Amino acid sequence: RVNMEDYDYLFKIVLIGNAGVGKTCLVRRFTQGLFPPGQGATIGVDFMIKTVEIKGEKVKLQIWDTAGQERFRSITQSYYRSANALILTYDITCEDSFRCLPEWLREIEQYANTTVVTILVGNKIDLAEKREVLRQRAEEFADSQSMLYLETSAKESDNVEKLFLDLACKLIREA
Ligand code: GDP
Ligand code: MG
Repeated sequence: RVNMEDYDYLFKIVLIGNAGVGKTCLVRRFTQGLFPPGQGATIGVDFMIKTVEIKGEKVKLQIWDTAGQERFRSITQSYYRSANALILTYDITCEDSFRCLPEWLREIEQYANTTVVTILVGNKIDLAEKREVLRQRAEEFADSQSMLYLETSAKESDNVEKLFLDLACKLIREA
């Protein structure tokens, strides 16, 4: 394949969801293999890059984390604009983070591109004994909103690689 770039596809992926659900940990686990993420490392960094290979094609993922803006509900249009995919994250041990999902969906509706691919992620499955949101309930909600659904643990590295690879596969299919 003749390609001037060092990749075949470039996708922008944006993480959203309540503060504390594990967005930064998921990104760091995937891009750096670390848990917990290094202290202070996010300062001044808007996004992380990781290139994966899918069926022989190089897929460059530009992954945008929020640097704490979600605490002030000040994430705006610029953050969603040009996102190819959104990872909407909640914490399975925090009912409140699940109940806020409709608010996030309204923001997506308002600001994101209509072609955006959204995956719902229930994080912290290593804390199974503290689970507040049943898997079936989350699956049904995701289904009703035409979202993919996956449960992860940034801490144990469960499904983290799969999350980004599944997303990349879906983005390639729809590109
Ligand atoms: P963010 O505000 O959404 O970026 O959340 P962080 O990534 O900063 O994580 C918030 C807290 O949850 C931190 O104390 C993390 O150590 C913890 N955390 C994140 N992911 C997991 C996980 O998969 N399992 C457990 N047990 N704790 C996690
Ligand atoms: Mg964070």
